[in-house]
Amino acid sequence: MERTTTPNRVALELASVARDASTCTACGLSETRTQVVPGEGSPTATLVFVGEAPGAREDLAGRPFVGAAGRLLDDLLASINLRREEVFILNTVKCRPPENRNPQRSEIAACAPLLARQLQALQPRVIATLGRHALAVFAPSAKIADVHGRPYAQTLGDQHGGGVLFPLYHPAAALHNGSLRPTLERDMAALREYLNADAREGAGEATLREVDSVPTRPRSKTTGEAE
Ligand code: URA
Repeated sequence: MERTTTPNRVALELASVARDASTCTACGLSETRTQVVPGEGSPTATLVFVGEAPGAREDLAGRPFVGAAGRLLDDLLASINLRREEVFILNTVKCRPPENRNPQRSEIAACAPLLARQLQALQPRVIATLGRHALAVFAPSAKIADVHGRPYAQTLGDQHGGGVLFPLYHPAAALHNGSLRPTLERDMAALREYLNADAREGAGEATLREVDSVPTRPRSKTTGEAE
């Protein structure tokens, strides 16, 4: 889907979502949060990452992916010649679940209108989900072990801005289970290849530059792929 609005309007709508999130009391997470974490990045981003939920560091900073998983995400982005300022990073819920537990379905549902507004404003070409909770928002019946590392489906235009869904494992999963890391690295390289092909096919206003050399590793079977 081509963007139907200007970067200024996108930025205004994203700022409006962030304001609404900061006063949101739609679920119980509002009672325990320190700060809301609306997400951040470029209003012209054509690639959006959707993580699970803010953790302790994000709750304090009000920014997504600033802890250990965020450092790995930054490294993974660098491995495909991207910086976080060039993409947009969101979460399924904008407030930290206590003790870093998984977000509940009701909390994800309560936050869904904010996520939808962000994606409708950004109209990304690619929505890369991080982990199974984010994947479930867009493709509830998909199993991450089956669908990671390749374009999986076109997301619904009305609800999610029309991008192609590209499921990835969550960086935290690779921190807990080292054997997942090569898989995540390969999947990022596959994402870069997809972005390059998309750009070559005349993606119109795609802002991601094409990159020639992608670090690739031979595909091998990975055990313990769960997150
Ligand atoms: N994990 C997430 O899913 N999101 C964050 O913002 C940080 C860690």
